[in-house]
Amino acid sequence: MTVSLGLLARLVPVGLSGADAGCGLSPGLLDRFLGPLLRRGRPSLGVGHRSLRRPSQLCDAATVIDDGHVRCWPVRDDIERAYHDQEWGRPVRDDARLLEKICLEGFQSGLSWDTILRKRPGFRAAFGGFDPEVLARYGDADVERLLADARIVRNRRKIEAAIANARATADMHAAGEALADLVWAHRPSNRPAPRSWAEVAPSTSESAELARELKRRGFRFVGPTTVYAMMQAVGVVNDHLAACFVRDEVEALRVAE
Ligand SMILES: [Zn+2]
Repeated sequence: MTVSLGLLARLVPVGLSGADAGCGLSPGLLDRFLGPLLRRGRPSLGVGHRSLRRPSQLCDAATVIDDGHVRCWPVRDDIERAYHDQEWGRPVRDDARLLEKICLEGFQSGLSWDTILRKRPGFRAAFGGFDPEVLARYGDADVERLLADARIVRNRRKIEAAIANARATADMHAAGEALADLVWAHRPSNRPAPRSWAEVAPSTSESAELARELKRRGFRFVGPTTVYAMMQAVGVVNDHLAACFVRDEVEALRVAE
């Protein structure tokens, strides 16, 4: 279906409407989730390679699921729906999953998260399930093998970064440290639920500090913005918007941590 601004306002009621406010979503977030769809320009949508400068234009042409739930961003299929509803923002304390998230955020650089999400099963298969001790042992032959693996993003620097991140995590384990403890030590004090994406900063003092700590330990592709995206995804912060239907459930899980 084609979503109208009115429908999107119902899906994302962030207190803004009209052309100036676009969908109430930042262009960056729209690009993150809808960019690839629009860049691919699926003929059925008739949107072509439309510029991403005017979010309000995109909203008229985006195909989204309308199941009556208010979400932080429009979702187009079950993969995106599951990611928003059941994963994003829920606390993660498993080191392999945290390592995976850090690595995939690095792979995402320059691409859309949607692309990475769809390739994630391939990434997991190719990178030993992101088990730090397994991935840390990958050598030159593994890098060459991965560069030929179409299931993943074949970028040598990013592949080498993922292995370096695994080695840094394995080094932490050898020293008796957990990646989860480091990540969760940068949990900020509670703050009010954001009402719109305009109230969500791209990075914070906590993400900058965690980025420094990760870099110091040998992690790569871990700038403050990338790290903040990871902190949002693994529940260190809860940036589900105030109107989002899973926000309270996610917050309850974080309080229980
Ligand atoms: Zn949400």
